[in-house]
Amino acid sequence: MSLIVEYDIETTITRSGENDMKTKLINWFEKRKKVHQEKMMKLGKCPDCRGYGVVIVPIHYAGSNIECYKCNGTGKFSEWEKNTQ
Ligand SMILES: [Zn+2]
Repeated sequence: MSLIVEYDIETTITRSGENDMKTKLINWFEKRKKVHQEKMMKLGKCPDCRGYGVVIVPIHYAGSNIECYKCNGTGKFSEWEKNTQ
């Protein structure tokens, strides 16, 4: 009986630990994204293409650059904001 209880406690700790890691990772990622967006906002540039108006695609087809759909190829933060909301 006591063995089962101990096992359950251990599993619970492991599970919560995993979730904690995931939450931390997501928070870190979101924070990084936010910092980047704020930086681009100050520069008035689209965070997705960094103001280039094009996104570099790793797959080689029809040229390797495609127009950034988030800012309609303008590279402007104001356009990006309109398409994000
Ligand atoms: Zn863009």
